[in-house]
Amino acid sequence: MEKEIVVQKFGGSSVADIQRIKNVANRVVSYKDKHTDVAVVVSALGDTTDELESLAFQLSKDPPEREMDMLLSTGEQISCALLAMAIKELGHDAISYTGRQVGIKTDKTHTKARIITINDKRIRRAFKDNKIVIVAGYQGVTSQDDITTLGRGGSDLTAVALAKALRAKVCEIYTDVDGIYTTDPRIVPEARKIKQITFDEMLEMAFLGAQVMQARSIEVAKRFNIPLHVRSSFSKEEGTMIVKETEKMEEIAVRGITCNKGEAKITICFVPDKPGIAAKIFTEISKSGINVDTIVQNVPHDRLSDISFTVPKTDLSKTIRVTTAIGKKIGAGEILEDRNIARVSLVGSGMRSHSGIAARMFKALADNAINIEMISTSEISVSCIIQQDLADKAVRSLHKAFKLEAI
Ligand code: ASP
Ligand code: MG
Repeated sequence: MEKEIVVQKFGGSSVADIQRIKNVANRVVSYKDKHTDVAVVVSALGDTTDELESLAFQLSKDPPEREMDMLLSTGEQISCALLAMAIKELGHDAISYTGRQVGIKTDKTHTKARIITINDKRIRRAFKDNKIVIVAGYQGVTSQDDITTLGRGGSDLTAVALAKALRAKVCEIYTDVDGIYTTDPRIVPEARKIKQITFDEMLEMAFLGAQVMQARSIEVAKRFNIPLHVRSSFSKEEGTMIVKETEKMEEIAVRGITCNKGEAKITICFVPDKPGIAAKIFTEISKSGINVDTIVQNVPHDRLSDISFTVPKTDLSKTIRVTTAIGKKIGAGEILEDRNIARVSLVGSGMRSHSGIAARMFKALADNAINIEMISTSEISVSCIIQQDLADKAVRSLHKAFKLEAI
């Protein structure tokens, strides 16, 4: 009988020090038995990747991306070797591999490469020899034999891609929280752990600010329908399953609430109201690689209107530069910026079949005297941009209004 295969991924905080690495070794070993082979993917110890990055930026404002990948990929090589040693100490056989050694082939986009193929031969051979396999996350190699990394948080992607290549039964993502919550429990103590959430909902929540898994890895899991189990490496409790369809999918309109304080609002005042102007503005902005989110154009007065939109705070100065230049060209007025905003969003696949969610959201905000500055919707989410100092209050009142503590 073919053995079942499980892929387990441990994030940086789960392997932050020797004690925690021993804890992971114990967990992995307890999982491996006669019927299961285990492939483990590890992130770099604690904040190693940030520390390596900061070394590079002390040398250069714009470090060459190939060298950045050489540097950043070392973090995961340390953790996978240490974990293999810890497992061997427990009397089990284990072997560690870099991304290159298990044939994780990527394209050439250094620092955010895409995986093209994985060669599972070496892993399968190790399984045959009854070894636990430890793979360094977040890295691969190009056809030219240059090391690449998969974007921050990329060990999740390694794990999902391995689960696909090995046809694993499940891909477990171990982290320092015990699952996905209806909202951030630091803001709302009544927040509940979600038992099951769909890929679409999780993706939407990741895009809107929830920081549990790398968004790309969820996309890949969705494409190949690989169930993910997000759980804590410090407890035995079940976490949250991310799956294609949940039970009672239609009944739950709002699965969770996210809050993102990382955006800023730009307003271009007195923009001439004629065809082609918005196209001109946003073409210039996108050419600079800036990711624009919600856009609002006010009703024109005297053939002039204001256009507001949001961008990540990290792109704010670049955006001001670009919009100032183009504003001059098209004869617009002042450019205003507001960093004190927050995006509060409701997410739920059930919105496809429930109506009136947006109206209930606006009412709950209004009842709490919270002014809405911008609104945007998708098929499964509604977002409001509000003032940042009111964000926590907004999340609390929405959590209550949609009775998420009772789900
Ligand atoms: N160590 C890398 C990072 O911190 C990859 C990962 O943790 O998934 O982004
Ligand atoms: Mg990390």
